Amino acid sequence: MIIIMAVDALEYEKVEEFNCRNLKQKCYGKTDISEFSQPRTMVLWSSFMTGKNKEEEVLRKGDKEMWNITWGLEETLFSEFKSPVVLDLPGFNYDKKVHDKSRELLKKFFDAKDDEEKRKIRREYNNDAFEHHKKVKQDFLRAIKEKHDLVLGYFSIADVIGHLNFGNTTMMRMIYKELDEIAAEINSKGKLIILSDHGMKPIGVFGDHSSYGFWSTNFETKLRNPRITDFYDFIIELKRKQE
Ligand SMILES: [Zn+2]
Repeated sequence: MIIIMAVDALEYEKVEEFNCRNLKQKCYGKTDISEFSQPRTMVLWSSFMTGKNKEEEVLRKGDKEMWNITWGLEETLFSEFKSPVVLDLPGFNYDKKVHDKSRELLKKFFDAKDDEEKRKIRREYNNDAFEHHKKVKQDFLRAIKEKHDLVLGYFSIADVIGHLNFGNTTMMRMIYKELDEIAAEINSKGKLIILSDHGMKPIGVFGDHSSYGFWSTNFETKLRNPRITDFYDFIIELKRKQE
């Protein structure tokens, strides 16, 4: 089984700072996303799953926030597999309602004038992110127990929580620990690739996307500073080697 833990905004420097051994696995490093004009979530995951730089196409086809983009199975690397499970991936089968709600709360937070109001909104925003995370985690762990040749779980919590709390080290340490524990639970179940679209950098207490991503594998690889589009062939080749 090939398992992909797709983690939005997993920051290389934080993985090091908090020494998340299970996220680092056997081989790990930064990805090179310098071919893209900006580190945009929808552009990067679209490019990952299709193996092509989709920036121009996403910007042209997408609405303002680009969240309406969906690629067909046959355009993605998932079509190479017999029984793939893909959970909540942007550009494929993301739960748009959940995303819309968190974006709306984010806007309300920045529009709010007084601190008590901001605290209330932040609480709701964080709670929603944790609730959604729990659901995806449950589905992910269940799918890994079943017989599939590919299981991909997309985890948005480091991105969503990071945007409002990246400067809160206690909270971010807790998020990274949670992700590290998921990696620990699954790293003996198959070939595990952990991949992020971009990282995150602090803007005061908040967070913004950084200009590289993160990758790791629980097996030896020749990858050094791979582009996110390199994983298309990499994963297909890994599958062939397993057959
Ligand atoms: Zn992202």
